[in-house]
Amino acid sequence: MRLRPGADAARVRRALSRLGQWVRECRDERGVRTFTIELGAPVSREQLLALEGVSEVSLPSSPHPKVDAMPRRVEAGPVTVGVACPPVVMAGPCAVETEAQVGAIAKVVARHGARLLRGGAYKPRTSPYSFRGHGEKALLWLARAARACGLGVVTECLAPEDAELVAHYADLVQIGTRNMQNFRLLEAVGRTGAAVLLKRGMSATLEEWLLAGEYLLDHGARGVIFCERGIRHFDPSTRNLLDLSAVAVLAHEHHLPVIADPSHGAGRRDLILPLSRAALAAGACGLLVEVHVDPGVARSDGPQALDAPAFESLMQAVREEAGRGGRQMAGGVR
Ligand code: PEP
Ligand code: MN
Repeated sequence: MRLRPGADAARVRRALSRLGQWVRECRDERGVRTFTIELGAPVSREQLLALEGVSEVSLPSSPHPKVDAMPRRVEAGPVTVGVACPPVVMAGPCAVETEAQVGAIAKVVARHGARLLRGGAYKPRTSPYSFRGHGEKALLWLARAARACGLGVVTECLAPEDAELVAHYADLVQIGTRNMQNFRLLEAVGRTGAAVLLKRGMSATLEEWLLAGEYLLDHGARGVIFCERGIRHFDPSTRNLLDLSAVAVLAHEHHLPVIADPSHGAGRRDLILPLSRAALAAGACGLLVEVHVDPGVARSDGPQALDAPAFESLMQAVREEAGRGGRQMAGGVR
């Protein structure tokens, strides 16, 4: 930013500080005073030009123009997820285990107000010996269970060659944390034109996350919902650290649709309710939550799955939070 000759630099600096900007003062090659913003709250070129003494402003171009320009609301099956919409809860088992299991869970989550049924047909597992999902058969069970209860479907795609198939069954295609920077997968899922739930890589910066969204949109995804699911940390009390600062930055600085997954964030069912409240208060426009009718026998992520009564209590809390934020949910318990 260039100052006019004779401008009061100290005054400009104070005005910038009131706008939340941390600046460095220099002179350009012609000896004209300049300020470079090193750190600061989002600010427009117009706001800076309006300051007395400022003659020129150049802002760096964004590395993710398609994310910046994307719609703030994304249609996902029966519902719209996004900025200023009532919060949307997506719930269901970690993995689709049997047709009966997913059918029973769909009834529970629909009864209490979830709008999308989640469930993994292709499971990314740390150990190759763990249950890795039933594949296409599970997609069919999931879609049937969802349809019977008027729910949309959210499910993960693990491999580029499955993208078309998964997009055929899903209203929202999930990219898991381990694949946030699997660029060939992002391209393949983008090419299907699907709406995508993009989980944050467990060690990814916000910039890397936004750029992963840019890949999806650049290849044709019709919308991206960002999902904070916890990052790696040093304390063993919780499985991950649910980064609510990230939720707040995406919601309030970038005005993007962002949801939280407290199930993977905490890894413990006793913390899902308070973390869900906190995430909604921080700006999340939805939640992704693991639910099982019998968590003790779940084939993956049992310790973080809510049972039916706990899910009912969670939904009550979500409604209260939504009411507090002026984003009432339609209909209450269905
Ligand atoms: C999941 O949603 O079950 C899952 C595997 O999530 P993540 O990619 O966040 O670990
Ligand atoms: Mn899981």
